[in-house]
Amino acid sequence: MLGGVALVGQIDRGDVHIVIVEDDPRIAAFLSKGLRAEGYVTTVLHDGQQAMREVVRLGDDVDLVLLDLGLPKIDGHELLQTWRQRKFEKPVILLTARDDIREKVRGLDGGANDYVTKPFHFSELLARIRAALRSKDQAASTLLEVEDLRLDLVTKIAYRADRRVELAPREWALLELFMRHPRQVLSRTQILSHVWDYSFDPGSNVVDVYVGYLRKKINRPGLKPMLQTVRGAGYRLIQP
Ligand code: CA
Repeated sequence: MLGGVALVGQIDRGDVHIVIVEDDPRIAAFLSKGLRAEGYVTTVLHDGQQAMREVVRLGDDVDLVLLDLGLPKIDGHELLQTWRQRKFEKPVILLTARDDIREKVRGLDGGANDYVTKPFHFSELLARIRAALRSKDQAASTLLEVEDLRLDLVTKIAYRADRRVELAPREWALLELFMRHPRQVLSRTQILSHVWDYSFDPGSNVVDVYVGYLRKKINRPGLKPMLQTVRGAGYRLIQP
C-alpha cells in the first residue's frame, strides 16, 4: 500500500500489504518482523474494534489478512462475517490458538481461505500466504480497468476508450502502477522504485519525461485527461 502505511526498505514483491490482526503483542511483533524480512508491507491491529474499522477502510489497499480468532471486543469469527458481508473479498488466513476442528470449520464456512494453528512454523505460514495470494491473482487480475482505461495483463494490450494504445515496456509498467493505485498520489520516488528499481538517480527527471510520453498516448482529444500533476507531491491517475 502506498500512503498511510510506512514502506519499509526496498520491497521486491511489489507492494503486497498484509494486515495482522492479533492481540498478543509478542506474536504480532514476531509476525510483522518476519513478514517484513520477506519483503511484505505489514500493518498490525490489536483489537477487534480497531480491525473492524480499519480493514473496511483500507479495502483494496489490503492484499491479505492474518486473523487471530480470540480477540478483545469483537472476535475473529464476527469480524470475518462482517467483512464478507461488506464485500471485503481479500484472502483471510485464520490464526487459531487451539487445534479445534469446529473452530476451523466455522472459520472456513464463514469465508476464511485457510488457517494455521498456533504454534506454527513460520515457513508453513509463508507457504500458505503465497498460496492464498496466488489463487486470488488467478481469479481476479488478468484485467485492470480504471474508467475507460483497460490493461489486459495476459495479452499485454492496453486500451483507452476501446482503442488500442501502443506502449513501450516502461510506459506499460508506469501505467500498470498507476492503475493499481488509481486515486493515490504517487511520488516520483515511489514511481522510480517500482518502475526503474532504483537504478536511476532520484534527482533524474526520467519519471516526468515518461509521464509526458504516457499522457500523449492516453489523452486523445475529446477524452477526459488522465494523469494529473499534484504540485510538490507527484502524480495521480484520477481524482479521488
Ligand atoms: Ca488472541
